[in-house]
Formats: sequence, structure tokens, C-alpha cells
Amino acid sequence: MEDCLFCKIIAGDIPSNKVYEDDMVYAFYDIEPQAPEHILIIPKKHFDSILSVAGKDFEYVDRMIEAAQKLAKEKGFEKDGFRLVFNTGKDGGQTVQHLHMHLLGGRSLQWPPG
Ligand code: 5GP
Ligand code: ZN
Repeated sequence: MEDCLFCKIIAGDIPSNKVYEDDMVYAFYDIEPQAPEHILIIPKKHFDSILSVAGKDFEYVDRMIEAAQKLAKEKGFEKDGFRLVFNTGKDGGQTVQHLHMHLLGGRSLQWPPG
């Protein structure tokens, strides 16, 4: 997708602070962190949101969750926990139209999220 911010980040056209990468997934620090650790995990293929994923492409979502588990363990969140979030659409607060999962940790997070 030519005009997609996260596609440009994957391509390296826009710099990012990478924490993980494999053949299907890219992960980097959020520019506006909402917790001491705030990582965005994105598929290397463009999907507008979780609603756009179908069939075999769900492997991207599996791999995003696998990356989240690995990063959560690396960051030492096993004991105190962490949160994974897919903001979707207007009411979900999605601001970037390339599927992404937030990994938030390092503090006690509130519920409901507001
Ligand atoms: P959303 O609000 O769509 O769920 O999440 C988009 C996230 O992308 C936000 O948390 C926002 O701070 C982050 N973000 C937006 N632009 C950039 C950028 O250029 N670089 C990085 N690292 N994060 C970004
Ligand atoms: Zn994209």
C-alpha cells in the first residue's frame, strides 16, 4: 500500500525503533507510549484491520501473537502480566489503517479502558 504509514515503516522508508522482525511480522516501539513498554506488532502484509483478514492469511495473526508472547517473556512480563490490544474502526480508536496489535506492559493497566 503506497500511502500506508506502517507499510512505509516496514519498507524502511520511515525510521522506527525495531524490537523484532521475522518473515511475516515486524515489531517496533510506539512513538507515543502509553505504558513503560509499548510495542506495536504488525504483519508485513497490508490489512486495513482485523476485519480484513481471511482464510490462510490468519497465519499472520498467529505469528503476531507468537511474537507478542516472545516479546512479553523477553520483557519479563510473565509474573505481573501485560495487555494485547487490537483497536478497530472508529469506536475502537483505530488511527492507523494497517492492522497492528499493541503490547502494553510495565505498569498496572486500568479496566475499563475509557
Ligand atoms: P491505533 O490508535 O491505530 O490503535 O494505534 C496506532 C499507534 O501508532 C498509536 O499508538 C500511535 O502512537 C502510533 N504511531 C503513529 N504514528 C507512528 C509513527 O510514525 N511511528 C511509531 N513508532 N508509532 C506511530
Ligand atoms: Zn500498510
